[in-house]
Amino acid sequence: MYQKTILSLVAAFLVGCGVQTDVATKSTMFQSVTQKEAVLLQEGKDKESCPRCGMNLPKYYKTNHSASLDGKTYQYCSLHCLQEHLYDGVSLKNPQVVDVQTLQFIDVTKAYYVVGSSVRGTMSRTSKYAFSTKEGAEAFQKQNGGEIVDFYKALEVAKKDF
Ligand SMILES: [Zn+2]
Repeated sequence: MYQKTILSLVAAFLVGCGVQTDVATKSTMFQSVTQKEAVLLQEGKDKESCPRCGMNLPKYYKTNHSASLDGKTYQYCSLHCLQEHLYDGVSLKNPQVVDVQTLQFIDVTKAYYVVGSSVRGTMSRTSKYAFSTKEGAEAFQKQNGGEIVDFYKALEVAKKDF
């Protein structure tokens, strides 16, 4: 009886997190970087976790976004979780995204997003990866397909995700 409850909880968790929880692909996920490589903008004991969904940020690093609200910086696993926070009606400042090539945060309005490539995304069936240069985005697109769009278009796609 007890065990059955645990199992159904695990199942609910897996469904909630989408395709990325596939155990077999964990170690080879495109998004992942080491803890050393990841830039963490949050403070405190939960600084490695997405404040919206709790997922580990270094593990999903290449889709990480950030924004600030009332002087506090939030670092999200994905555009999806940033979008979800916006949906609360708050006005987030200084939105940033990780540049896949340099692993540094850049201004979202300066990023080139490759949307819908064959590389799996985070919290989304339509992946979105950001690049600081058009050349970088084009090289990625050449290998993996997808469409190059700006942040606002990528955000629109993220809204339709769930
Ligand atoms: Zn998240």
